[in-house]
Amino acid sequence: MRIDLHTHSTASDGTDTPAELVANAAAAGLDVVALTDHDTTSGWAEALDALPPGLRLVRGAELSCRSADGRGGHCTVHLLAYLFDPDAEAVVAEHARARAGRRRRLATMAGRMAEDGFPVDPDQLLAALPEGSTAGRPHIAMALVRAGLVSTVDEAFERFLNDRGRYYVPSSRAPVETSIETITDAGGVTVLAHAFAHHRGTTITAEVIKELAGAGLAGVEVDHPDHDQEAREQLRDLAADLGLITTGSSDYHGTNKVLRLGQETTSPEMLDAIAERATGAEIVVGS
Ligand code: AMP
Ligand code: FE
Ligand code: FE
Ligand code: ZN
Repeated sequence: MRIDLHTHSTASDGTDTPAELVANAAAAGLDVVALTDHDTTSGWAEALDALPPGLRLVRGAELSCRSADGRGGHCTVHLLAYLFDPDAEAVVAEHARARAGRRRRLATMAGRMAEDGFPVDPDQLLAALPEGSTAGRPHIAMALVRAGLVSTVDEAFERFLNDRGRYYVPSSRAPVETSIETITDAGGVTVLAHAFAHHRGTTITAEVIKELAGAGLAGVEVDHPDHDQEAREQLRDLAADLGLITTGSSDYHGTNKVLRLGQETTSPEMLDAIAERATGAEIVVGS
């Protein structure tokens, strides 16, 4: 069983449409794939419609949240949410709020860059986004690639778009405890994404993860391309101590990142543990 529980489509900042994503997942030899676009479920229907025979789809999302970092400050954390009811009132409201905030924030960042002469047009960027999709910095990065200013999305992040860059504006984020509660109440299961990806910016301490486990967090993503060996070992040990589910996933974004579907995987036992806890949506098998 090859199981990849973290991927992005054009419903957020990936480059495969949801239909292309599930086709590529089958072609990559995956048995199970989760679609986890940032702050939206707008890709779910297309992925379901296009699901190749035998492939299992775990419907999910990745929520941008705000957390205490355990060092006296705050930082952004990403919360993977699986198999929740997408029509639950609080889920719909939070996703809508997050997406609207992210569009404003993209316009602010792109507007400031345009003022400084960068080849980006905020209105054009927003107009090109699919209905119900989520705006992110990769959309600016792709515009910079198209304009020939940089050759890759990664280069755009390194030079202009990272959290320490002068154009960076944080996206609006709900407190992570609130998001855990919202998703759990909607029958879903929460897994903290790439918690120890230290090169991305400030990360939370093990102590904070312990508190989140007390607040209902179900699992942690251990095997992630942005985790080095030490980060994986620390998270695996912590999960064992706290009785948390552990997952492994690629965080595939299509051509936006040099990652392959199924590059990191989750064990069948852990997928079962997620499915057992979930009551908001079912895993669907393509027929
Ligand atoms: P945003 O959600 O708008 O804050 O943008 C963050 C997203 O950019 C992440 O979810 C990644 O998908 C993507 N990304 C791509 N390359 C990088 C990079 N080098 N550093 C940080 N984020 C990156
Ligand atoms: Fe992303
Ligand atoms: Fe993430
Ligand atoms: Zn992701």
